[in-house]
Amino acid sequence: MKIKILGASKNVTGSKFLVETKNRRILIDCGLFQEREFKNRNWEEFPVEPESIDAVILTHAHLDHCGFLPKLVKDGFSGKIYCTEPTEEIAKIVLLDSAKLQVEDAEKKRKRHEKEGRRGPYPEIPLYDTEDAEKVFPLFSSVNYNSPVKIGENILINFYDAGHILGSSMVKLEISENGREKKLIFSGDIGRWNKPILSDPTVFKSADYVFMETTYGNRLHESKEEATEKFINIINKTVKRGGNIVIPTFAIERAQEILYYLNKFLNEDLIPHLIVFVDSPMAIDVTEVFKKHTEYFDEETRNLIKNGQSPFSFPMLKLTKSVHESKAINYIKGSSIIMAGSGMCTGGRIKHHLITNITRPESTILFVGYQAKGTLGREILEKKEKVRILGQFYPVKARIEKINGFSAHADRDELLKWICGFENLPEKIFLIHGEEEIIEEFKEILKEKVKSEIFIPSYLEEYTL
Ligand SMILES: [Zn+2]
Repeated sequence: MKIKILGASKNVTGSKFLVETKNRRILIDCGLFQEREFKNRNWEEFPVEPESIDAVILTHAHLDHCGFLPKLVKDGFSGKIYCTEPTEEIAKIVLLDSAKLQVEDAEKKRKRHEKEGRRGPYPEIPLYDTEDAEKVFPLFSSVNYNSPVKIGENILINFYDAGHILGSSMVKLEISENGREKKLIFSGDIGRWNKPILSDPTVFKSADYVFMETTYGNRLHESKEEATEKFINIINKTVKRGGNIVIPTFAIERAQEILYYLNKFLNEDLIPHLIVFVDSPMAIDVTEVFKKHTEYFDEETRNLIKNGQSPFSFPMLKLTKSVHESKAINYIKGSSIIMAGSGMCTGGRIKHHLITNITRPESTILFVGYQAKGTLGREILEKKEKVRILGQFYPVKARIEKINGFSAHADRDELLKWICGFENLPEKIFLIHGEEEIIEEFKEILKEKVKSEIFIPSYLEEYTL
């Protein structure tokens, strides 16, 4: 078999790995490139004829894992897309949102370039629109954890809980070819142990080849206790200054987890009773999927709900779906917590809240998630003197804070715990889904722990296994 690397290699986004056997082509994940320097790859001709791909396996519903599907379908893919039910439901929300942003961004870009009399680095047409996104939906085929599915004669696929976001999976492929059977595991994004809402990541007994993510391969997250304490402090200090706490929030998992904590803080009187806005139609829709699929929660959260305590609805919580309600937030007197998307500030309503708050020293911009290179979020986090938002420059005067402890990604030690948890270590380990320097660092550490051959694939590289 051959594995062709089509993304998330020496970078974090655009996850796509093509597994090619004698008579099948299976794409593991179909993510969008989001880093500024790699975005043009979304527009380039796809390295493999989309029509020739038999199936897509989706590990989870994050945009960098599913966001390229509408383009793939538009260009000729018509096979099944295998994933869990929550992944399918969340992916639909994500793709519709992405289509809307693609259309809006292309239009804005076109207008701006027209005004400036120049042409952009890539076409000012959307990569796909709502109609394209909707054409993906009939192709979804939902699977359960630990329930093998046969794809063709020689391939068995099986999904396992990754503990990363609701419905997220690690995928095992058992491929028999030329009289030998090989087991491949794609880690998807590896979650964390002892997180609220979700179960722990699955640890495996054996595999021949493992493709593992390394987003945080060179660092350790704060502990849950440190993270919550920091969160409480930031809220209390900002309220004292009379500012707002603006949280660029990933709509999936992070939003629900932050709500879980805020509900807890309010119940325990650890923070003042200020209004919490979830100003993200997407986060609101995803929360509905959470409410529907409580069977994917960990036992603790299931019990909480059984006792009538939903972390997803509490008295101070205001869900603002309409633009009108969103704009009204600007006129609220006193401090409030504003959660809005997108999580890396690359689009959505957060940009408007940043414009209102980034020049106010009393406000706090609080990052609770990963900020990829080249995104507005990363620029703010790196405390650039001024940043461009919607075509205009603003000085960064607000306090900039970051809490890593809420990450949905395993940190260095958790990644090591996962890979070293194999009873029989894999023959080959491929380190993917991480920035190049980070992967290199992780490789050096991992080399000391395992005897497996370790590879760092490059974009478009091909391996014969
Ligand atoms: Zn993810």
